[in-house]
Amino acid sequence: MLPSVFLVFPASCGLMARIGFSGHPLTQTPSFNFSDIALVEPLQRAVRESGYTTPTPIQIEAIPPLLEGRDLLGCAQTGTGKTAAFALPILQRLAANRRRVAGKHTRVLVLTPTRELAIQVHDSFRVYGEHLKLKYAVVYGGVGQGNQVRAMSTGVDILVATPGRLLDLIDQRYLVLDGLEVFVLDEADRMLDMGFIQPIRQILALLPKRRQTLFFSATMPPNIEKLAASMLTDPVRVEVTPVSSTAELIAQSVMFVDKARKKDLLLFLFKDPKLKRVIIFTRTKNGANRVADLLDANGISAEAIHGNKSQSARQRALENFREGKIRALVATDLAARGIDVDNISHVINFEVPNVAESYVHRIGRTARAGAQGIAISLCDAEERSYIRDIERLIGQPVPVAADQPFHSESIAQARGSTAPSGNNQRQQRPARNGQGGGRPGKPGRNSRGRRR
Ligand code: AMP
Repeated sequence: MLPSVFLVFPASCGLMARIGFSGHPLTQTPSFNFSDIALVEPLQRAVRESGYTTPTPIQIEAIPPLLEGRDLLGCAQTGTGKTAAFALPILQRLAANRRRVAGKHTRVLVLTPTRELAIQVHDSFRVYGEHLKLKYAVVYGGVGQGNQVRAMSTGVDILVATPGRLLDLIDQRYLVLDGLEVFVLDEADRMLDMGFIQPIRQILALLPKRRQTLFFSATMPPNIEKLAASMLTDPVRVEVTPVSSTAELIAQSVMFVDKARKKDLLLFLFKDPKLKRVIIFTRTKNGANRVADLLDANGISAEAIHGNKSQSARQRALENFREGKIRALVATDLAARGIDVDNISHVINFEVPNVAESYVHRIGRTARAGAQGIAISLCDAEERSYIRDIERLIGQPVPVAADQPFHSESIAQARGSTAPSGNNQRQQRPARNGQGGGRPGKPGRNSRGRRR
């Protein structure tokens, strides 16, 4: 009955756990705002204009230490918001300490493996730095070098580059790395896969010893670990990965429903005997109690677990759930951490999480150990934008299940115009400044994600 999309989580950062990396605190701080991060007003404004409301986990974890000047080792994939996580504090640092840059010099170097990524990162810096008067350049191979040489001739604050062209320009003395303050190595694992270890070593040898270094990689095999250790000084470690390191298959759907009808829809769903062992997520403790009471009152055995319950009550509820004595466990994000129950048939988001990463963690409770799981999100009008954020994060649309008696077409319609399509990691944002459907985070793309 439900349309489904399968979300496959790639294995990543496996070794980081071994060397003591901790998970991100997203689930502990679901109501974190950008205003809670000490970013200056021009950056807060740019973030608002980009349509971001809440920082992603990597932004929550990485921005404060980066603002303090710490080195950083980030295990994160594209799509986690990592570009803003490093661009925002770097921009703040430069703006707080303005300096005239000599010709051919740069204060910041971001190294990326591909030209596409270089262009995207450069675009992001320009968007986030829109209200700061800083100079940016991007250099990459496969095109004439004339414009790039010209851009560098008067010096820039931030340079984004691919390794080969960067070294070419350095060899020709069009570019100098003396006086560099911040170095970012992005997608280190991909760099090594592409055979860039030698160029990276050459570039490292040219960098000033005193600098801030940021190192990002989606995976941490030993050779990457070694490279990171050789570059970083007492780094802060940040890991942002999907909830499990094994591939999982989850059939997802979203049901649009008026807030007042959510309870009816939930009871309707429970008429299906396939809902055997179900975790239901709510945003608040009171919400969890109310949903558990509702189910119980309607003959569906359920218990709530959340921070206000004693440890023993939580334990008991979990045992009952594990043993199949109750059909549903209603939980808040926080309480659900550490729940390790196999054969969960369904995850139901009674309330859509306002932090996209929470969604991935929630639905990861089902489909463990290769089993197929089902995740259903009940979305009211106020939560529509959360679904958009989720789709952006997971890089695919969540299919709409409209064949249910409480379907709200008006909510579905309101969503339609900006829902991403296809299986593109980098999704569209709503139009900005009344212009086309470009994506403020990464401008200059048309609606198919192709460069204009
Ligand atoms: P990245 O991982 O840097 O490639 O970012 C992935 C996507 O998330 C980009 O489209 C960004 O514009 C978007 N993004 C970054 N930070 C946020 C945020 N705090 N809220 C919503 N979207 C974001």
